[in-house]
Formats: sequence, C-alpha cells, structure tokens
Amino acid sequence: MFGIMMDKQLNIADILEYAALYNTDAEIVTNTVEGGYHRYGYNDALLRSKQLANALRTLGVEQGDRVATLAWNTYRHFELYYAISGMGAVTHTINPRLFAEQIIYIINHAENEWVFVDLTFVPLLEAVQSQIGGVKGFIVMTDAAHMPESSLPNLMCYEDLLSEQSSEFEWPQFDENLAAGLCYTSGTTGNPKGVMYSHRSTVLHAMSSCRASALNLGPMSRVLPVVPMFHVCAWGIPYAAPIAGSSILFPGAGMDGASLYGLIDGEKATALLGVPTVWLGLLNYIESVKGNLDTVESVVIGGSAAPRSMMEKFTEVYDVFPIHAWGMTEMSPMGSLCAMTPYLKKADKESRMRIQSKQGRAVFGVEMRIVDDNDEPLPHDGKTFGKLMVKGPWVASGYYKNDDRSAFRGGWFDTGDVSTIDSMGYMQIVDRSKDVIKSGGEWISSIELENFAVGHEGVVEACVVGIAHPKWDERPLLLIVRKEGSSCTKEDIIAYLTDKVAKWWLPDDVVFVESLPHTATGKLLKTEVRAKYENHYQT
Ligand code: AMP
Repeated sequence: MFGIMMDKQLNIADILEYAALYNTDAEIVTNTVEGGYHRYGYNDALLRSKQLANALRTLGVEQGDRVATLAWNTYRHFELYYAISGMGAVTHTINPRLFAEQIIYIINHAENEWVFVDLTFVPLLEAVQSQIGGVKGFIVMTDAAHMPESSLPNLMCYEDLLSEQSSEFEWPQFDENLAAGLCYTSGTTGNPKGVMYSHRSTVLHAMSSCRASALNLGPMSRVLPVVPMFHVCAWGIPYAAPIAGSSILFPGAGMDGASLYGLIDGEKATALLGVPTVWLGLLNYIESVKGNLDTVESVVIGGSAAPRSMMEKFTEVYDVFPIHAWGMTEMSPMGSLCAMTPYLKKADKESRMRIQSKQGRAVFGVEMRIVDDNDEPLPHDGKTFGKLMVKGPWVASGYYKNDDRSAFRGGWFDTGDVSTIDSMGYMQIVDRSKDVIKSGGEWISSIELENFAVGHEGVVEACVVGIAHPKWDERPLLLIVRKEGSSCTKEDIIAYLTDKVAKWWLPDDVVFVESLPHTATGKLLKTEVRAKYENHYQT
C-alpha cells in the first residue's frame, strides 16, 4: 500500500523562492572581487537569478548542459547556482587551484560550452584557451566598468547579459533525480573524477545540514562560508542558509586573516566554516591585532583533522564552539560532526577534547560502518581500525562518465579513509588508507602524529609519512615547518611526543623544511613527500 501524499519533486529553485518570500530580514553580503562590499536580500537574488536563467536560454543552454563556473564565493556565484540548476542545466564548479592540465581535462570531460569566470581567473583561462576548443564563450562576472582586456574569444560581461533580460521566469518542474551540480574531486593520482549531484540529493543534504544538531543555522545566524563554492558547493551553505533563513557573508577573494576578520567583525558573523589552514591564518591575525570573536558562536572545522590546539584556542581564548566535521566531495559533503550534547556540556575539559578531536557522529541520512579487507563489518569499540564505508541519499553511487566502480561495493561507498567508531557512535579518522603507516604488522596513524606535533609551540605545520624500512616494513618520518623565530630541534619534538603516543609510534627521524606541498584543496600532498624521502631509512 502506498501513502496518499503529494508527489512534489524536490527542486533547488524552490529553496530560493521560499527564502525570497519568507526570509526577508536576511542579507547576502559580499566582499566583492572589484573591491568594496555589496549587499542585498534573497528576493533580489531571486529576481537576478531569473534574469540570468533567461540569459542562459538565449545563449542556447538546454536541460542537462554543464555550465562551468570558475569563481570565488560571491553573490554572482550564488545567482549562478540557482539560475543554472533551476533552469534544468548543471552547475559545474571548477576549482581554480587545480593544475592547468587538470582544468583542461575537466572542462573537456564535462563538455562545457559556457564558462562564467571571476576577474581573478581570466588569465588562467587565457593560458589554456587553445586546449578547450569546445567552449563557445566566456562570461566575466563583473560590470562593464571592470571588463578586462582579454584574448579570450566571445567574451561577455555578466551585468550586461543580465540587464537585457526580464526577471520573469517560470522555473521548469522536473524529476528530482535530474542532475543539478557537478564537482570534480582532485585525488593525488589519476585524472579528477566527477561527482554529479541531483536536485534531490542537494535539497535533502541542505535540509539535514542546517538543523540544530548539525550546523545549527537559523534566522539569527550570519554565516561565513570560507570554504569555497568551487569545492563541494561551500559545504552546501548556499542551499542550507536560505532554507534556514540565515544571512550569508561571502568573502570573495579575501581569504587572508585581515580580510576575513574585517568581514567577521564588521558584519557580526555568528557561524564560520572552513579548513584548519584558514583558521590558522585568522587566529594568527586576530592575535596580532588583539582582536576578538565576540559575535561568533561556532566555527566548523573540516576538510582535514582539526588540531586540538586550535580547538582549545577557539574554546578557551575566544569562547567559540568548534564543530569538528568530516565529509567528502562524494558526500555533498556532510558525513559526520561533533555537535553540542548534554554529555559534552557537562564533561571535563579532557573528556570533551577527547570527543571533539574525533570527526563526530553521522548526521541523519548518513549510515556509516567500518570493514576489514573482505568488507566484513568490524566492531564499534573505538579501537579497531577499518575502512570507512558510507551510504545515504546524498552519497555518490558512481562517477560521471567513469567506469571505475571499485569504491562502490554492496550498496556502500568506500571513502578511502581508515577510521575507528566508538560505542557512542563517534567516528575518528585514523588516516587515508594509502597514508596509514604499516610498521611491523601494526598500523600507525599519520594524522594523529601530525595533530600532536602541531601542538608544539614551535611548529606551524607537520606532515608524517611512512617510509620503507629494512626491518619494520615502514617507519614514520616527521616533516616540520617551524614557526618564525623558533629553533626547536628533533630532540625537542620527540620529547614532546613521548608522553602522547606509544613508544613504537615515535618517528624515527624529524626533518625541518621551509614549506610542505599541498593539493589544490589544501591537503598535504603526501605522494610527493614520500617520493622525495623514499630512501631516507635505507642506510
Ligand atoms: P574532499 O573530497 O576533497 O573534500 O576530501 C575528502 C577527504 O578529506 C576525506 O575523505 C578525508 O580524508 C579528509 N577529511 C575531511 N574532513 C576531515 C576531518 N575533519 N578530519 C580528517 N580528514 C578529513
């Protein structure tokens, strides 16, 4: 027997229609690429998105076409999210930090015909234009006064394009499983792989992520997504905030500590989201100007492990609740997080930190388990390491135009992460499966060692890799970027780690470096580090 309820299909355009009607107090503030702040409300964004949808029609964009963006977090990028997906095409966000060859591959693989580009990234496209011949035209996301001189063919101005169009547009209604967004993951090896989000997955993810037990967004929130709209849709904030009625503060190209602090302080941000590296820059800046985070209630830290020292600083110095979160491009991205609970509220500092250092409990909609090499489930005892598998309505079931199904097994997605899950359901990432160090038949977590190492006062960044060892198979090597002015030594670092990890986990050597290599999404590029030091323990 079926339920007797309306079969209304979920559609991204309905989010903005709703926000325009009911969230009339909310603001969208942008630190613009051209300079200065821009502000307007959801209704303005809706009308301009409709103009843009009309413009896309005149360009010949049809349902299912992939329209590319190469842009910062701004109100124009927000309009593109709604106009493109709302008219039935696919918003394809490209990460400008990728290597040129990867950008060329992605544009050609997605068969993009139109590319919307921020001023900053015009030179990047000029450099590759001869290799992306399928693109019919480029639209610069600016007004006529700021249009650049460029060698790009068929160059148009965003504001001119909009000004010619009516703000009347009837969003088409269609199957909620149609494609709405496309984002390529940038692994450390091989070509990037495309994750194709649907209207259904995007709306469900947004509804789940804004709840109090997740990102805790509401009409009083002023949310600052530092995490870019070109990387997993800024963790879904452009969809979750309008549902929750929150104001959005878009940082534009201003990702440095000073610009972020200006936006936080001037616009009274309440909720921040970003990766640890960004918070490091912000905290250093605030310290240098003796600033505060008085309006901020929570900071979501994800993308890589949140160092304990960072969480302590947010909590104890700035009275901001750190929400440690874990997710992936393949998961839209939200998988798990550490929300406030009665237990956490009461716990002493040590117990609270032990829990908050974990990547949290699955949010409603995501199922998680850990398995062994035969995909057999392992116990949730907080100690046993296993491959982390997930399933849910906003988890990918394959990659776009890619036959590799090795990660999709038995209705689950193998995240490529190794983790533990404890009896309360808290998941802790131990490592990427390819980064975990196998020493004498036992596993060592490179992430845990890195987290402890960055707690040392002389350390800015740490990287641990497993290096082939004649006796133990692999042994950990620790690379450290020292803080300016610090002269800490190998002996200092080892002594610091000694009471924090088992003796056999201690790195055999510590190497001090000027900087560490990163991927386009800011993660440590361990393949490069391993290759460079592959013979370090062979003598
Ligand atoms: P991406 O798809 O580029 O967002 O990368 C997803 C990967 O980032 C995950 O599979 C994890 O390896 C890593 N990651 C994300 N969040 C965290 C976190 N809180 N702690 C540790 N690793 C994380």
